[in-house]
Amino acid sequence: MKIICVGRNYAKHARELNNPVPEQPIIFLKPETALIPKGHPFFYPNFTKDLHHEVELVVRINRVGKHIAAEHAHKYYDEIGIGVDFTARDVQQQCKEKGHPWERAKAFDHSAPVSRKFAKVSQLPNPGAIQFRLEKNGQTVQEGNSADMIFSIPQLIEDVSKFMTLKIGDLIFTGTPEGVGPVQVGDKLEAFLENQSLLKFDIR
Ligand code: ZN
Repeated sequence: MKIICVGRNYAKHARELNNPVPEQPIIFLKPETALIPKGHPFFYPNFTKDLHHEVELVVRINRVGKHIAAEHAHKYYDEIGIGVDFTARDVQQQCKEKGHPWERAKAFDHSAPVSRKFAKVSQLPNPGAIQFRLEKNGQTVQEGNSADMIFSIPQLIEDVSKFMTLKIGDLIFTGTPEGVGPVQVGDKLEAFLENQSLLKFDIR
């Protein structure tokens, strides 16, 4: 399986990092080893001093497809979960300055914790406006709504599937809203989808 991530999909987040709002989706990949094995803790990596949380809605693909038109995209997923796209912001800055890819900053082991539980799209109160948030030590640090995405989930599926075949079990991280920020050893993170806690772990 592969993990496809989308950068700068919320205008306010693009602006908070002084990035232009993109005209087409910015996509990058994380390897399967970015997931955290069940019961495994998250350890702060030793190659960064500025690890940031980015909470994101995560789409799980349930059907193989290529060249999927946006209007058919709903047939390719029926569940949405939540994940954190951990980013070594200092390393990412160095990559950007050199015009290099982001993998060192974003694709490292355990950089993509994802909820075990996913919500059924059919059971969401409004599948076009999914609310989600991240709490750090009990305080809300990021709050988002899928209605604010620059590129909607169907548009993302259309765009990504022009370039790569989507397979069953592939995950799409759909971008983070504003409020990204650093985590420290000892922090407790908890992510909610429509007020339901789906993902909870400590930084060790
Ligand atoms: Zn992200």
